[in-house]
Amino acid sequence: MIARRSIIPVFVPHLGCPNNCVFCNQRKISGSLVPATAETVKQIISEGISLIPKGTNIQLAFYGGSFTAIPVEKQNELLDAALPFLRDESIHSLRLSTRPDALDKDTLERLKGYKVQTIELGTQSMCDEVLLESGRGHTALDTERAAKLVKDFNFELILQMMTGLPGDTKERTIETAKRIIDLNPDGVRIYPTVIIEDTPLCDMWREGKYKEHTVSEAVDYCACVLPLFEKAGIPVIRLGLNPTEELSGGAAVGGAYHPALGELVRSRQLYDKARELICKNPHGKVVTLGVNRSDISAMTGQHRANIEALCREFSLSKMIVSEADIQRGKVALL
Ligand code: SF4
Repeated sequence: MIARRSIIPVFVPHLGCPNNCVFCNQRKISGSLVPATAETVKQIISEGISLIPKGTNIQLAFYGGSFTAIPVEKQNELLDAALPFLRDESIHSLRLSTRPDALDKDTLERLKGYKVQTIELGTQSMCDEVLLESGRGHTALDTERAAKLVKDFNFELILQMMTGLPGDTKERTIETAKRIIDLNPDGVRIYPTVIIEDTPLCDMWREGKYKEHTVSEAVDYCACVLPLFEKAGIPVIRLGLNPTEELSGGAAVGGAYHPALGELVRSRQLYDKARELICKNPHGKVVTLGVNRSDISAMTGQHRANIEALCREFSLSKMIVSEADIQRGKVALL
């Protein structure tokens, strides 16, 4: 279980990344064009801690790029910049994201010395064909090896997966989720593929060599794998790319980019549960569904889409969504 904390992010876009994954344009994803330096790290921490209430557990996170693929001197420069803040307990731990093939025992030992607590691995898929077609440059075996090492060294492990990469299918996404669950991470992030300007994937799409992973397909894939993670007790800590001005302003040219993707998936999950309930139980022309107060809008769906679809399918004259004393994510027939 991960303790609640506030994260101060530092983006190290593309710094040191030896790879060229077809979907990646880290500068546009992170919205950051200037690679981080010791000075920017210090500045970001100072600004960050001034905005966070005292007494909060604060973690500094190096996101973007592949941290452990950066030359060691540069890694240490960035980590050293955080040390004074760790010593005076303005911040409490560090977090970084990297590639599965950029980790070994020596690296993990060095990171332990810097109070790194959490390591995120870009897994993306556990299907080698998908990894190959996406230009990832590593295999599923690399992920298994790295995830085991991270756990052996007692770091918190977060695995990031993607849906809708070249060669991916719903079955392969489900298989990826199952193999990720077997690695017992402390959390998962799911990023449905977005087509970003100035990437090889964008060229493939424009040349007709890649079929876009639409928002509705992404919602469908995610609604299939979320219950698997829930059942395994693994929190999904992020669903979909963080909206940025650059992405919303045109850099995301296609694919599963939606500022509220997580909400769409939750809405779909509630729809599926309601549908199953109505199928299995006798009902009249008017149906009342009970959900947790915070689920009312997701149950209703965008522009009442869930209500209208259920009314149509079950020939209902009316459907009411009502607040009930029920756990979030559950649905009852009242
Ligand atoms: S490894 Fe990460 S930073 Fe490097 S190209 Fe791939 S997605 Fe981008």
